[in-house]
Amino acid sequence: MWTLRSLLGLRCAAGRAMSQGPTRRPRPPKDPLRHLRTREKRGPSWVPGGPNTVYLQVVAAGGRDAGAALYVFSEFNRYLFNCGEGIQRLMQEHKLKVSRLDNIFLTRMHWSNVGGLCGMILTLKETGVPKCVLSGPPQLEKYLEAIKIFSGPLKGIDLAVRPHSAPEYQDETMTVFQVPVYSEQVNGKQQLARSAERLSPEPSPDPGPAEGEQYLVDGVGQKMHGRDPSLVVAFVCKLHMKKGNFLVLKAKELGLPVGTAAIAPIIAAVKDGKSITFEGREILPEEICTAPDPRVTFVVVECPDEGFIQPLCENATFRSFQGKAEAPVALVVHMTPEHVLLDSRYQQWMERFGPDTQHLVLNEHCESVHNLRSHKIQTQLSLIHPGIFPPLASLRPQEGGLAPCVPLVRGQCLLKYQLRPRREWQRDAIMTCDPEEFIAEALELPNFQESVQEYRKTVQDGPAPAEKRSRYPEVVFLGTGSAIPMKIRNVSSTLINISSDASLLLDCGEGTFGQLCRHYGDEVDQLLGTLAAVFVSHLHADHHTGLLNILLQRERALVSLGKPCHPLLVVAPTQLRAWLQQYHTQCQPLLHHVSIIPAKCLQKGAEVSNPKVERLISLLLETCGLEEFQTCLVRHCKHAFGCALVHTSGWKVVYSGDTMPCEALVQMGKDATLLIHEATLEDGLEEEAVEKTHSTTSQAIGVGMRMNAGFIVLNHFSQRYAKIPLFSPDFNEKVGIAFDHMKVRDRWGRAGGVGGAETLSIHAQVARLGPLPSTTGTGPSIESLLEAPSVPRVTSSELLHKLGRQCPPPVWSSWACPHHWAWGCPGSARLGLT
Ligand SMILES: [Zn+2]
Ligand SMILES: [Zn+2]
Repeated sequence: MWTLRSLLGLRCAAGRAMSQGPTRRPRPPKDPLRHLRTREKRGPSWVPGGPNTVYLQVVAAGGRDAGAALYVFSEFNRYLFNCGEGIQRLMQEHKLKVSRLDNIFLTRMHWSNVGGLCGMILTLKETGVPKCVLSGPPQLEKYLEAIKIFSGPLKGIDLAVRPHSAPEYQDETMTVFQVPVYSEQVNGKQQLARSAERLSPEPSPDPGPAEGEQYLVDGVGQKMHGRDPSLVVAFVCKLHMKKGNFLVLKAKELGLPVGTAAIAPIIAAVKDGKSITFEGREILPEEICTAPDPRVTFVVVECPDEGFIQPLCENATFRSFQGKAEAPVALVVHMTPEHVLLDSRYQQWMERFGPDTQHLVLNEHCESVHNLRSHKIQTQLSLIHPGIFPPLASLRPQEGGLAPCVPLVRGQCLLKYQLRPRREWQRDAIMTCDPEEFIAEALELPNFQESVQEYRKTVQDGPAPAEKRSRYPEVVFLGTGSAIPMKIRNVSSTLINISSDASLLLDCGEGTFGQLCRHYGDEVDQLLGTLAAVFVSHLHADHHTGLLNILLQRERALVSLGKPCHPLLVVAPTQLRAWLQQYHTQCQPLLHHVSIIPAKCLQKGAEVSNPKVERLISLLLETCGLEEFQTCLVRHCKHAFGCALVHTSGWKVVYSGDTMPCEALVQMGKDATLLIHEATLEDGLEEEAVEKTHSTTSQAIGVGMRMNAGFIVLNHFSQRYAKIPLFSPDFNEKVGIAFDHMKVRDRWGRAGGVGGAETLSIHAQVARLGPLPSTTGTGPSIESLLEAPSVPRVTSSELLHKLGRQCPPPVWSSWACPHHWAWGCPGSARLGLT
């Protein structure tokens, strides 16, 4: 049987090579750092005459799910202002190259501004970007220190922090001045700290640790506090003057020595605005040179609450641009919540910039779709099964208050304001999200509708009457890709809805909260209100950097629901503490939101000596209605865990985290109802899988089979498989592939005690995107699977394939051509879903 498998493996590989087609010339590998080499070649002596093209572009319009972020482009440099969670993903989707970022400016040390920075820095490092400058609050230095706790030393990239006190920054495009603004609403303690700020480290404004987290705080961080929530940094950016263009024809007419070496000093002089004397005659610069473009200024400011309004109004730097200023500011970008924006003092401050200044607002009142591709793919998938692929939701922008008296423009994703060559708003890049259009596109595909109908009929023929289905447990896959958040798949996170009032997250990669917003829309607060616990499998950024936002947003949700705030239970490797502790101490208080249960304390046979931890474990089991919450070490990095949850009603969900095939997981997961296992790589890449300590598809399925899992859902796919990973010959009716926002449920309910292989099968039909399962429910043996992979009648994968349009019809009829799902295949590249 192994021979058969390897034969199939070989066929996959051959097919993949073929799918690229004989006529397609392989593209040379892209060099993401070419711009740096070009710049090096130009050398330091090269002095530009100011940039020709500069524009600002909204990356994120300030909504709760994406925060506020701005990209600034010039032909010489690229900048990012603020980097909350999901910004890297949006930049990838909208082709704003991360590798070209020179500078990241941060307006405040708050997770909404820096949440995506750890992932961004890791990506810059991976790409080989040698240097990146971070400007803003001085705590950025400490933030970088904190990242190193889980990333290890950030070798190979020079990360320079320019605190607000540093001299202005200058490059080929512009000069940037940092303007610190301090809130006037500080308590006595902080005021004291403020006055002593430059003399000694600030004392702690902490209320002290909340109950249950004492052991977290003990002994660390109470002395050397660096965080300062009362500081925001605004940026005043002045473009260099653009020198005029030398008019060659005019110069020729005047008899100047165009085309000879003698012309160079003449050009230099007139571009600098100087007159020259040629053959005894004075020539004015405007005779042979266009007028220079003056310095243009734009401002980026965040005013998070009322406490900053007065200090902002009184700020001398801004005053110098207001009233009768010589050169008005072209644009002010306000990252300011609506209630602050509408404050009369703030309105007056805006007004004082004068009628020639444009105002752009990024806040939760801006209505904009950011992750368009997610919306599109989900709308199309929902045609196949709206229950499993429910259409995505949006957060409604909050109700508006009074209309502001200063004209302003509300941010929209990809809206541009061009500063050069001509100052103007540019709206052509803004996307519209039109579900009708996505649906029409899918319905036009040949045979698509017939296939959907045939598929639905088969699903209805299944043995489970609808009334027998239980709503819980319900599994929502929020992030199913590995390593880097990408447009189709976000990084790891899976939500288990245990009951109407208890939910649990398995891992929490960057952007998990944003995914929840897109899945639940305005119901997201209710969901966060039921969130009882988070399991963090290991400290890789794609598994845990979304946790902080979950903590902060959950607090906001509890307040808005009028529920009491209590710490969230987090089962995690103990090393997570160090990271949270460092961020809490240096950047932003959040430890009172969390109670950590060390994952090792839930290993089989572990002795828990700490009564507090013991109490937290009981609380965890009780709130989640679990009989057991077990963890085991898996084969990945140090301190990487998998977990098994056994509910009092009998179901058992097992989650692998990241791992190579792991015997301990097999033992722990025996007879699981559902196994969620990583399958980072395709079959045939076993060596790479060992190198990266991950599993291939067949290895993951093998683990599930040995475990006797009722159903296996694969996730954590390498981002090289943009939409659908390669099928493995081991696929059978127990195996499904996870998509972001895919929702599956236990089919039978637990009351009757029916378990094992039959559960989830109805959803499996789509979930697995493979052959339809037999309806008998018991499933074939491992041997029969390996020897005779079943051949489908109609498959949901076919439906998807049809969305692919360009795949030749013969491959639709069989999943034995797995290469057609691969990255680079002309079919999959257009898989519906482009
Ligand atoms: Zn991972
Ligand atoms: Zn990992």
